[in-house]
Amino acid sequence: MLESSEMNFERSESRMVSPNITENDTDDIEVGLRPKTLSEYIGQDKVKENMSVYIEAAKKRGEPLDHVLLYGPPGLGKTTLSAIIAHEMGVNIRITSGPAIEKPGDLAALLTNLSEHDVLFIDEIHRLSRSIEEVLYPALEDYALDIIIGKGPSARSLRIDLPKFTLIGATTRAGQLTSPLRDRFGVIQRLELYTHEQLCDIIMRSAVILGIACDKSGAMELAKRARGTPRIANRLLKRVRDFAEVIGNGKITEDIAKIALDRMEIDSLGLDNLDKRMLNMLIRGYNGGPVGLETLASAIGEEAVTLEDVCEPFLMQLGFVARTPRGRCATALAYKHMGYEYKGGAADNTQQTFFE
Ligand code: ADP
Repeated sequence: MLESSEMNFERSESRMVSPNITENDTDDIEVGLRPKTLSEYIGQDKVKENMSVYIEAAKKRGEPLDHVLLYGPPGLGKTTLSAIIAHEMGVNIRITSGPAIEKPGDLAALLTNLSEHDVLFIDEIHRLSRSIEEVLYPALEDYALDIIIGKGPSARSLRIDLPKFTLIGATTRAGQLTSPLRDRFGVIQRLELYTHEQLCDIIMRSAVILGIACDKSGAMELAKRARGTPRIANRLLKRVRDFAEVIGNGKITEDIAKIALDRMEIDSLGLDNLDKRMLNMLIRGYNGGPVGLETLASAIGEEAVTLEDVCEPFLMQLGFVARTPRGRCATALAYKHMGYEYKGGAADNTQQTFFE
């Protein structure tokens, strides 16, 4: 079962297009916006096909599913997919996150409370401390915990057997995982940003569940500005409903969606003020780059991780920003969208390396 109290909410986020969980999103769990089966889960076809084979095979053999690592930008459905995997396996899921596990004892308590074949979901697994990782290795490989009792010469090690469980780790930064930890996952899957059509389907589904009147062209307008992310799509749907009720007749149409999103300062491609500040600084402050991410972040007064996790994947997918060994560069497309003349730049000689 999903345990909302164990989820990690980022309360400082105020951006409408932030892909991180905000307080507004917490009711997603109660009202059932989260799909519960693989067939309800829209998009990510390759991941779904692979997972359904692994699930069926594990069930046939009567074994737990191999440990799974899901990675990709926030809000793409990693937690949702993990709950679905547990549901399809017919087992329970315990949800926690890397920063919430502070001491080896916290992890031991979680592991010893699992039942056979249960799923333990660790969000932001790249933030586990080294000492916790050390405890996790034997748990993943041998389903056992090695506990040291006592100190000094009289200390002895005690091995506790654990139920055979499945770890599902989620991360926005696969590159930050230590290689011993990464090597212990039998299945590694990357979630992709969603297409407009897939987001449109997600919005239409959510509208039905929430009882919001929304026509296809209205949903498509929201989809185009949801930066490839279901969590943002659902959030825009709820906010635009307010506009539809106040300035329209309650139905979300293309016109209402356009007015509402323009008022929320989300442009036709889904860029908000932060994306535009980043692009402006890159283009006008640093002549299109290359510039280091830290430098760029401090120039606009933001955290580098926010730019890297939130703005960059989307701007790279749009082809607006290129990553080079010497820093970030703005492309001709970014200049055009921001209304600047492009006279050639470092981005011309780069190959995009999206989400290494
Ligand atoms: P993550 O764990 O990657 O940050 P979540 O699993 O919390 O993302 O998903 C965010 C929200 O987006 C969920 O509440 C869910 O309603 C919606 N969602 C995500 N993926 C899908 C999908 N494939 N189909 C329908 N809704 C989805």
